[in-house]
Amino acid sequence: MEVYGLIGDPVGHSHSPALFEAAFEAVDVDARYVTFRVAEADLETALRGASSLGIDGLNVTIPHKEAVLEWSIPSARAEAIGAANVLDLTGTRPLAENTDAVSMATVLDRLDRPAGQALVVGAGGAARAYVHALIDAGWQVMVANRTLARADRLADRYPPATAHHLDGAVDIAGEADLIVNATPVGLESDVSVLPPAVLDPSQVVIDAVYEPAETRLLTDAIAVGATTVSGRKLLLEQAIASFRLWRDEPPPIAAMAEAIGVEHRR
Ligand code: NAP
Repeated sequence: MEVYGLIGDPVGHSHSPALFEAAFEAVDVDARYVTFRVAEADLETALRGASSLGIDGLNVTIPHKEAVLEWSIPSARAEAIGAANVLDLTGTRPLAENTDAVSMATVLDRLDRPAGQALVVGAGGAARAYVHALIDAGWQVMVANRTLARADRLADRYPPATAHHLDGAVDIAGEADLIVNATPVGLESDVSVLPPAVLDPSQVVIDAVYEPAETRLLTDAIAVGATTVSGRKLLLEQAIASFRLWRDEPPPIAAMAEAIGVEHRR
């Protein structure tokens, strides 16, 4: 039996078990997906133990996305971002990849729009991955964050990206062709990180939050006629990329999409 899983703290509300159990069933492989709550101080021990126990692959979430790089061989993408969210443990040392960046790159590719001005709200782990993908695809990026110093640090890594305080996001949102919410604002609540008045029909609005499937930000964006991409879609794309890293066979995309209630178009 193959074993995959998720390490983080907390891990309780993850959609990954449902997603990957559905995937393994669809490709008829005897595999399990387990969540492991691992405290920050226990990461090294947990990774050594995981390899010794023969665990094949792990997803990585808060607070370990940066620290896992110390114990792994990062891809060029993960190294540039400074964080990884998936590990392949089948070699002598874990291979680390950042499939959050892959998910945004895939979404941008499918949008089939010329690169323009993007506003990323947030400057945490997800924002870092998304800014990397946006810059890589030729977008100009403005980063707005509640803690300005963190936006500054992120923008400094990707000149000529600019940093702004979250309070100023309403003033610059109108300049954006694409807006990404990379904060947890809207998670299991009916609030949005931006007021609806700043949205317009020409924009693409992407929300990393995947619970609920249609957040307040997305509802507001749909109401003005903007193009939207949900957090569930990003979640699906990062999981597809994880599956590709772990297994030498095509990912069962339809089964994975169905497991988290996403309509998937190739
Ligand atoms: P993180 O590293 O903790 O960063 C959180 C960011 O959100 C920080 O910039 C933080 O600002 C900001 N923030 C937190 N609470 C806020 C509030 N009440 N008002 C305004 N800003 C606030 O978290 P993360 O890993 O980047 O994840 C962010 C969200 O994206 C989470 O909801 C996560 O579940 C989601 N996510 C989704 C996917 C997907 O595939 N759909 C992938 C990754 C993450 P400060 O710097 O001021 O603290």
